[in-house]
Amino acid sequence: MSLLSVRDLAYRYPDGHEALRGLTFTLAPGERVALIGPNGAGKSTLLLHLNGLLPDRPAAEPAITVDGLPLVAANLPEVRRRVGLLFQDPDDLLFCPTVWEDVAFGPQQLGIREPRQSELVRESLVQVGLAGFEDRLPHHLSRGEKRRVCLAGLLACDARLLVLDEPTSGLDPRGRRELMGLLTRLPVGQLIATHDLEFVVEICPRAIVLDGGRIVADGPARKLLDDERLMLAHGLERPHILRHRHPH
Ligand code: ADP
Repeated sequence: MSLLSVRDLAYRYPDGHEALRGLTFTLAPGERVALIGPNGAGKSTLLLHLNGLLPDRPAAEPAITVDGLPLVAANLPEVRRRVGLLFQDPDDLLFCPTVWEDVAFGPQQLGIREPRQSELVRESLVQVGLAGFEDRLPHHLSRGEKRRVCLAGLLACDARLLVLDEPTSGLDPRGRRELMGLLTRLPVGQLIATHDLEFVVEICPRAIVLDGGRIVADGPARKLLDDERLMLAHGLERPHILRHRHPH
């Protein structure tokens, strides 16, 4: 069974703007896929659909299925637990006095009691490489560390699909490298919207190219990103690491 199935997903904003024009794709459990495309392609609109933040009123015919659950109003709480959405700015998501409390917040909301709650917090901090950070103040951490605290919070709720919006933005080279290492070690599915094409080449086996609300390519990331004509046609650029490998 696929982890995520999207079938003919279309969406028009209330002002009439058509942002998604019939998207169809699936993700297998544990698969890591990049979502790339120029500004305005529809990436954020798609991400917002994946845990039911859009549309305001769910469609009668659900276009999205997560882990076998059709995304309809009755399944929203369960779908939101399985899809961990991480926005670009981690500061919006961290609001507790300590890292421990921030990561424990999700499991608490789900009604998970002790000792399971502490176990989940501990395990997810280990998974994101932040063991020992329990008592630190989230707003004193670096941007990369904050992002990892957010990821730990999603993992503690047993997210099966991480949906990440520009996860490398604002990270220094070390933070970026740590994040790449971490994402490749996590055994959960990942859909990653990004403009960082070198990051895609390094850690995403597959890429979906979106433009004008449509999927214009879906396949092996290196092959698509090495296709200069495809990249230029959709406001993208063939990454340098691929150029160095094929000097002309
Ligand atoms: P991306 O994330 O790829 O940059 P978006 O999903 O943000 O693209 O936007 C897709 C299209 O929808 C764009 O043309 C954008 O102008 C439009 N759009 C985004 N948000 C809104 C909104 N709230 N109301 C109307 N149109 C919107």
